Amino acid sequence: MAMQTIETHEHDVIVIGAGGAGLRAAIEAASEGLSVGLICKSLLGKAHTVMAEGGMAAALAHVDPQDSWEVHFRDTMKGGSFLNHWRMAQLHAQEAPDRARELEHWGALFDRTRDGRILQRAFGGHTYKRLAHVGDRTGLEMIRTLQDRAVQFPNLQVYMECAITKLFVEGGRIGGAFGYWRSDGRFVNFRCKAAVLATGGIGKAYRVTSNSWEYTADGQALALDTGAELIDMEFVQFHPTGMVWPPGVMGLLVTEGVRGEGGILRNSQGERFMWKYLPETRRNEYAADEDEARRWLDAAVDGKQTEDRRPPELSTRDNVARAIYTEVREGRGSPHGGVFLDISYLPGERVKKKLPSMYHQFSELADVDITKGPMEVGPTMHYMMGGIRVDPDTAAATVPGLFAAGEVAAGLHGANRLGGNSLSDLLVFGRRAGQGAVQFARQNAQLPNVSDATIDAEAKAMVAPLERTTGDNPYDIQKSLQQVMDVNVGIYRQQADLEHALEELKVIRQRAKTARAQGDRVYNPGWHLARDLGNMISIAEGLTRSALLRKESRGAHSRLDFPKMDDASFGNVNHCTTLKNGEIDVQPTPLPVMPQELKALFEPAKETVK
Ligand code: FAD
Repeated sequence: MAMQTIETHEHDVIVIGAGGAGLRAAIEAASEGLSVGLICKSLLGKAHTVMAEGGMAAALAHVDPQDSWEVHFRDTMKGGSFLNHWRMAQLHAQEAPDRARELEHWGALFDRTRDGRILQRAFGGHTYKRLAHVGDRTGLEMIRTLQDRAVQFPNLQVYMECAITKLFVEGGRIGGAFGYWRSDGRFVNFRCKAAVLATGGIGKAYRVTSNSWEYTADGQALALDTGAELIDMEFVQFHPTGMVWPPGVMGLLVTEGVRGEGGILRNSQGERFMWKYLPETRRNEYAADEDEARRWLDAAVDGKQTEDRRPPELSTRDNVARAIYTEVREGRGSPHGGVFLDISYLPGERVKKKLPSMYHQFSELADVDITKGPMEVGPTMHYMMGGIRVDPDTAAATVPGLFAAGEVAAGLHGANRLGGNSLSDLLVFGRRAGQGAVQFARQNAQLPNVSDATIDAEAKAMVAPLERTTGDNPYDIQKSLQQVMDVNVGIYRQQADLEHALEELKVIRQRAKTARAQGDRVYNPGWHLARDLGNMISIAEGLTRSALLRKESRGAHSRLDFPKMDDASFGNVNHCTTLKNGEIDVQPTPLPVMPQELKALFEPAKETVK
């Protein structure tokens, strides 16, 4: 295959992924006048971010004036069980309000307070009402706004339905990227001075997931392949409320906004069970009884301040997911293996206004009217806290010229992400990644030259599954992978299961190496999956090895054989995944030490300062 046949484009900066993080990075780089290529494997505007429902967390203090970046920082660190990179949590909390205001300035129409400011709603783990939102369609508004802004730059070129399969390293820095057009399978080569990865998560390695088809761990695997480090891969968030029925929509998200608006969880005996599962050390953050929870909700609806505390359903996601899992396992589940989530006691019009997507989702997909009766819900794989290790200020990965932002990156959320902290993460660190890439491209003005032989080798590897006459079907292999991950590396883990998963993954990897894709290169998702499988398997292995190494329970990582948090052994380490001689390797690395002035924010006397 001759190099001349491969279409080639040149940019100062390429951004791979056009969700919230990629769009924000591209806007930043383009606004500096550099030539930017924005590449996405779906249509522009169709990225996973569009599915985000509940809102973006930012301490604007419009509803609860006591809120501040310090409280947001504290909530984020507590939610992440202190494994977060303190500097990322600090920058995120400090800059999120400006990013929300900027989005509004660019045209985003948030829901409003009575006096016309951005309205904020409650979410699990947030001390105050903090989520700027647009009903339950916040992601749609975010993408619409960013997209409108991005396409106005003449120096920003969008490449849609173009999947990147390889990042080249040349002369010790990122040298370009290789991919294919999903429509006709033609190959395409990008030359660049710097690259930003913003490809999102890994959800399709699991069977029950809220994630879209795009989440095949591409960015994490591309980065690993260049020599970059991944951290915190054991921390996978299982959202407590996904649909459990009918089977075709199992895993589809039921936004936390339902609980933020007053949704109550009950088991088959009618018991409001979350009271039993509140963590002893944080019990005082929650309402003492039904009356207090109700008063809190009424105050929230009226936009009033209150001394009352939040309902138990607004505990952190890891905690609520474990509670639901336990209720079901102990025989108190709903008919289809979940529990009941009820908001039908509120006026129907209010439910429809605040949760229009949920109303339609249940009436159209499950024939349930949520204004008249409860939903059935259960945990679903939702978000990847682990990902590419980045420098907090520049979003630089550990390979020169490579930057990462959004769900593909790690550090901000530690052991568990608070709801709403992803959308703000995308904007804060998307912008910083754009700035980092611009600076790198300016300082390294020469375009690296990747050899024809290197490019041809990738093209050859790509067509191999189409040329085989035998081999397993990629969809069958993905099913095996999902089964292994669901059963052995789910909400609760233990040594024997994790070891079993590693054995199974070995077999699955061999099958994937010799997978056969039928048909030709013209719009052939089976062929695309044959390539994506390798990404998901590598990341699943890193995840499982990290989970095996962490012999404690912390945040979203729950070990049945080590049910307690072990600060002495694991409180100060991130697990770091790299490729060593082509093999996945996981080692503990020290957690950055938080400076004294931030530590002081956790002293009890300061808890009420702001
Ligand atoms: P994405 O928006 O997923 O974008 C990834 C981009 O990368 C896409 O353009 C994709 O095409 C592209 N891509 C991937 N691989 C390749 C490749 N190989 N080559 C080229 N392009 C590629 N978070 C909140 O904070 N608040 C919420 O209310 C909220 N609600 C959610 C509701 C749902 C149903 C789900 C699933 C998640 C929700 N989240 C929420 C989480 C949040 O939406 C995501 O974490 C976030 O949108 C990820 O954004 P991103 O920019 O990192 O990636």
